[in-house]
Order: sequence, then C-alpha cells, then structure tokens
Amino acid sequence: MAKATSLHIVWLRNDLRVFDNASLFHAAQNAREQESNAVVALYIATPTTWQQHNMAPIKQDLIRRRVKQMQQELAEQGIPLLALEADTYQDCEAIFISLVNEGMVAVYGQVEYELREQQRDNAITKQLQEKGVEVNWYDRLCIMSPGSILTQSGDTYKVFTPFKRNWLSRLQEQGVHCYSRVKGNPEFSADYLAKQLGLPVMADGDESSAAWPVAEQQVLDKMREFCQQQVADYQKTRDLPAKKGTSGLSAYLACGVISAQQCVNRLQMEAGPELEQEKSGSSVWLSELIWRDFYKHILVAYPDLIKHKPFQKDTASIKWHNNKKHFKAWCDGKTGYPLVDAAMRQLNQTGWMHNRLRMITASFLVKDLQIDWRWGEQYFMSTLIDGEFAANNGGWQWAASTGTDAAPYFRIFNPITQSERFDPEGEFIRRFVPELEHMNNKEIHWPHKKTMPDSYWPAIVDHSEARKITLALFTEVKKSDE
Ligand SMILES: Cc1cc2nc3c(=O)[nH]c(=O)nc-3n(C[C@H](O)[C@H](O)[C@H](O)COP(=O)(O)OP(=O)(O)OC[C@H]3O[C@@H](n4cnc5c(N)ncnc54)[C@H](O)[C@@H]3O)c2cc1C
Repeated sequence: MAKATSLHIVWLRNDLRVFDNASLFHAAQNAREQESNAVVALYIATPTTWQQHNMAPIKQDLIRRRVKQMQQELAEQGIPLLALEADTYQDCEAIFISLVNEGMVAVYGQVEYELREQQRDNAITKQLQEKGVEVNWYDRLCIMSPGSILTQSGDTYKVFTPFKRNWLSRLQEQGVHCYSRVKGNPEFSADYLAKQLGLPVMADGDESSAAWPVAEQQVLDKMREFCQQQVADYQKTRDLPAKKGTSGLSAYLACGVISAQQCVNRLQMEAGPELEQEKSGSSVWLSELIWRDFYKHILVAYPDLIKHKPFQKDTASIKWHNNKKHFKAWCDGKTGYPLVDAAMRQLNQTGWMHNRLRMITASFLVKDLQIDWRWGEQYFMSTLIDGEFAANNGGWQWAASTGTDAAPYFRIFNPITQSERFDPEGEFIRRFVPELEHMNNKEIHWPHKKTMPDSYWPAIVDHSEARKITLALFTEVKKSDE
C-alpha cells in the first residue's frame, strides 16, 4: 500500500467503541468531504505511565483485550486500527510527529480531564498545529460537559442535589445525542504505516480480565437487558451485595466501551414515564450516572484534586494514625469485621467491588482505623477494573468527610449494623469468607462473641472506641478552623 495522501487519525483513548464515537464519526465525514482515502484509528498503550498512575493490572488487561477486539470490529467497517506499544505519554508525541511525515492531515480524539493527560494533549496539539495539522477534540466523556451546568452566579455546584436538578432540566431541553457507526475505506490497510513507524505493536495482556466480555455488542446487550429487565428493581436491590442489583457496567464506562449517553438513551427508551418518578428504579439509576458527571465537573473545576488534596482544606491537617499493620489487614480482608473482609476479598479476587461495600470499607479504613483516605484511594485504584480518578477520588473524599457534599464527619458507619442491614442472611459474607460458612445468619455479622472458628481473625479494633478517636481527630481540626 502506498503512502496515503491525506491521513485522518482517530486517537482512541477512553472511547474504545465503534458506536457513538464522535471522533470516528467526524473523521469519516471529513475524510469523505476531502476525498481522502484513509481514516485510521490509533491506540497507544503506555504501560509505564499506567503504572505511575496506579492503573490496576486487570484494567490494563481489559483495555488490551478490548483494543484487539476493536481491531476486528473496526476492520468490518473498513477502518484499520493501529495498536502500538510505547512506554509513556511523552512517547506519544514522537509517534504523532512521525505520522505527520506519513501524510497525516487531521487528528480526532475524545478529551481526558486529568492533569497529565491534558498536558500531553496540549503539547501534541501545539506541535501538530504548528505543522499545519488540524486537531479536533470532542468533549463527550460526560453527558453534560464540565462547565455547562453552573449555579446562577456562574459557579461550579459543590452540592449534588441542585446540580442534579439543573442537569435534569438541561436533559429535558436538549436530550442526548448518540453518533451512528461509520464506514471507512476497505481498500486502505495500516500495515504500511505500522512498518514506516517501526514501533512495536501492542502486546497482549495477562488475561486477568477474561471474565469480562469485550465484544461491543455483548456490552450493549448487557446494558439493554439491564434497562429492560432489572432497572425497575434497582432502587430495591442496589444496596444488597449478594444480589445482582446493579448494572455491572462501570468497567466498560471507565474505558468507554459504552458511553454514558448510550445508557441514558436506552434508559429513556425502556423506562418511559417511570423515569419522571423520583423514587423509581430508573430515576435512581439515572442519578448514579449524574453522580458520574458531577465528580468529573468537580475535578475540572478544582484541578488540585488530581494532586490528592482534600476538597475541604481544613481536613488537610488531620493527624491520621496510619498504622501499617492495620492497613495490611484491611487490604488483605483480615480485619475481623466479616462484611469488610468479604468486601476486600471480593475486590482482591475479582477486581470489582459493590458500591455499598466501597462505602463501608472506605469508611472503615478512615473512621475505624484512622488511616489517611489517600492510602485507600491508591489501593482501590491499583486493584479496581473500573478504577477512574474522578469517581474514585469523589467516593473516597465522600467517605472520609473531606470532599464536596461529603458525609458529615460525625456520621460514622457501624460495620456490624451495615452488615445486618445489607447482607441480612450473611449470603455475601459466606461467599467470600469461607471461614464463617457455618455461622448462623445472626452471629455471622459479629462472630467474636461465642464460638468463633479458629481460622477467622480477631477484630483489629473496637468500633465504639475507634469512633470516639475519629470524632476527636475531626473535632480538633474543625475547632482550630473556627
Ligand atoms: C470509595 C469509592 C470508590 C469508588 N471508585 C470508583 C471508581 O474508581 N470507578 C467508578 O466507576 N466508580 C467508583 N465508585 C462509584 C461506584 O461504587 C461504582 O461506580 C459502582 O459500584 C459500579 O458498579 P455498577 O456499574 O454496577 O454501578 P451502577 O449502580 O449500575 O451505576 C451505573 C454507573 O453509574 C456510575 N456511578 C455509580 N455510582 C457512582 C458514584 N457514586 N460516583 C460516580 N459514578 C457512579 C458508574 O459509572 C456506574 O457504572 C466508587 C465509590 C466509592 C464509595
């Protein structure tokens, strides 16, 4: 294949999908208008940067598997996908400069909001524009773009409920738009480019995410089935970790195998007027997608968050105890609090944790063990298949009472009553803590009273004592703030 005269490069990053992909859509449209012969999708794996960002190995594997699968899916549309292996974000610059020499006239990509990603994109944009290449960024990561939902005085909302109200009225006004799938030129192959660039092709992963299907149609079907069959009960079942009450789509949303816009579109189609009822399953699920937008808006408006600074500045001076043995026990699921242990083992074994359990384990780390929330934030990031900065940071700061619209510091989850309430029959505990398999439904939540099996762990702290210590830590900083 000869050198393409005008190459339109779609740089895939967090939008690993064929449907509803603004970059692919606009690249195909522009290429057609300019009678160019080539739209080429590009993915660059950057394992060293991923490691610096604590990306979980299971998430890295999911991405690699998805990119390979997408090569086939895009090939059916006549669009080659060049998957390359580099090291860091800095290496991406050199790849783009080489592509200019190969006839690249335009680049298309979906924005990313984090600091180093922005720095990388700004540097590449500047270099390419100086060389006369058109650079197009599409802000489709949120359903409503950051900066588009503001208070009457033009500020970012710091509280979720009014944000949501404004967000919903915007949805009514403008609806959601999804892009259709596009076709490229089946005669063009990217082999020539791959050879010219002389870079290694993307390596395979370690298959640790094999339990997660990566075909786009399968993921779309999962989302559709959830909206058709399960969402009506979401309000009732979403807090019960033993049930499959939530969508299980977070890993796909985090890598962009589906978009949040597609979820809302489908939800509107399936739920009809039920979506207008405040407490219906559909409207509660929509609220979760709005939380997703909310934390991204906060991140864009307060870029210091990326440096792991607390949103509530006074909490920066809390003197966390940071006991390393306690931290290890928490990570390993050996705290002696059954539901906390079951949750951490779910995370370690599967790479995913139920939302209620994320709240309980986060609260336990911060408010029962007095360990800095950033330790937990980092651990979650390095193990979660859906690890995603804004949601993870938002969730941790919510639980630690350091964030925006966070749980008040004096509201401290009791891990035993949470267990009785959300895993009443101990079904989830039994699944992940086999040591407690034979305990009855009542004693399983707190097995230390009577006949605790030798194989289980003594509780590492006493909850009511721990509660007092934490309240004192917070009161100290709140007082000095007055
Ligand atoms: C401490 C802590 C850490 C978290 N870390 C992450 C993370 O790294 N990545 C992540 O995607 N979510 C995170 N969450 C939010 C939430 O726990 C997960 O999104 C949810 O458990 C994913 O399961 P699901 O797809 O079945 O969710 P569903 O209940 O089906 O929700 C649908 C989608 O809405 C979004 N969503 C749901 N809840 C939230 C929320 N509270 N904040 C932001 N978005 C939300 C997710 O994209 C989710 O897939 C965290 C929450 C806490 C408390």
